[in-house]
Amino acid sequence: MNGGTNRTLPCDWCHAPVPQPRGRWRTRRYCSKAHRRRNRVVEAVGNFLDNL
Ligand SMILES: [Zn+2]
Repeated sequence: MNGGTNRTLPCDWCHAPVPQPRGRWRTRRYCSKAHRRRNRVVEAVGNFLDNL
């Protein structure tokens, strides 16, 4: 659903447009490392709650 060659995806955390690298082997989901790390924390909490 993206037109053009310049692809962007919304950051999973703040929905800012994230420019995608050329290679199609990986997608960037976060606009910054901080948001990526934050998501990892959220994931860890989610796993923790799953184990309860
Ligand atoms: Zn972000």
